Amino acid sequence: MTIRASIRAHRAPRPDHDGGAPAALVFEGVTKHYGSAVGVESLDLAIPAGELVTLIGPSGCGKSTTLRLAAGLERPNAGTIRVAGDVVADRRRFVYPEQRRVGLVFQDYALFPHMTVAGNVEFGLDRLGRGERRARTGEVLDLVRLSHLADRYPHELSGGEQQRVALARALAPRPAVVLLDEPFSSLDESLRAQVRRDTVATLKEAGTTGVLVTHDQTEALSVGTRVVVMRGGVIEQADTPEKVFEQPATRFVASFMGDADFLPAKVHRPC
Ligand code: ADP
Ligand code: MG
Repeated sequence: MTIRASIRAHRAPRPDHDGGAPAALVFEGVTKHYGSAVGVESLDLAIPAGELVTLIGPSGCGKSTTLRLAAGLERPNAGTIRVAGDVVADRRRFVYPEQRRVGLVFQDYALFPHMTVAGNVEFGLDRLGRGERRARTGEVLDLVRLSHLADRYPHELSGGEQQRVALARALAPRPAVVLLDEPFSSLDESLRAQVRRDTVATLKEAGTTGVLVTHDQTEALSVGTRVVVMRGGVIEQADTPEKVFEQPATRFVASFMGDADFLPAKVHRPC
């Protein structure tokens, strides 16, 4: 299938949860340097509630830094980050990860090996009473269709099942936004498409805003309601998949996101 056909075939419309609500995640002029290395530079990005945004760019362009800043695993050098309207990081304030309404799914899932599936999911719900914790765990395990494996340990699960546990754990505390950092890259090619479909369907069913980092162009264009293309710590384009593919904002986006050919041209009569 061509990339263009894939954009149309796979992309499920997501409900608009915006309705005047604040954006789920906002970066305003956010900079993060690691010594002399640039993580991100003056990043401006607003992710409306209910969207599934894909973040793509070459290795080292700042994708993981962006997610880590949103999650509170890094402190910005400058700028403001808001989650669901609340400032979580600026010059004065820094809200710790567990107090931000942000869920995280890493590439390696980072499940606790000594805890069962249910134990892993319950872990982030310590503020709830025992009964509520059980009920919520049951609900999200149903959502990812893993209720029958609640008593298994992570090593007794397939890669795809482990990924679903990680997603359930991230969704359990009802975060304002779920951040997924290359969540499918350690799966076999054969599993990848199915797990990707399941993950997108689950996020949609939960009505959760998502930011998904990927290095796969087709994945970025087919899954995202918006696609953010980064290079060297800055955003080159943030747009609908159609626009990114058909009207790339820069030469870099054109060559990175599509099979572009460049022809030298002169404008004689500007319109
Ligand atoms: P991506 O996820 O897009 O591959 P990262 O956000 O991980 O990129 O990294 C962006 C830049 O910041 C890279 O140049 C990387 O080497 C640098 N970087 C990331 N984390 C650290 C760190 N903890 N210490 C030093 N440099 C880092
Ligand atoms: Mg990364």
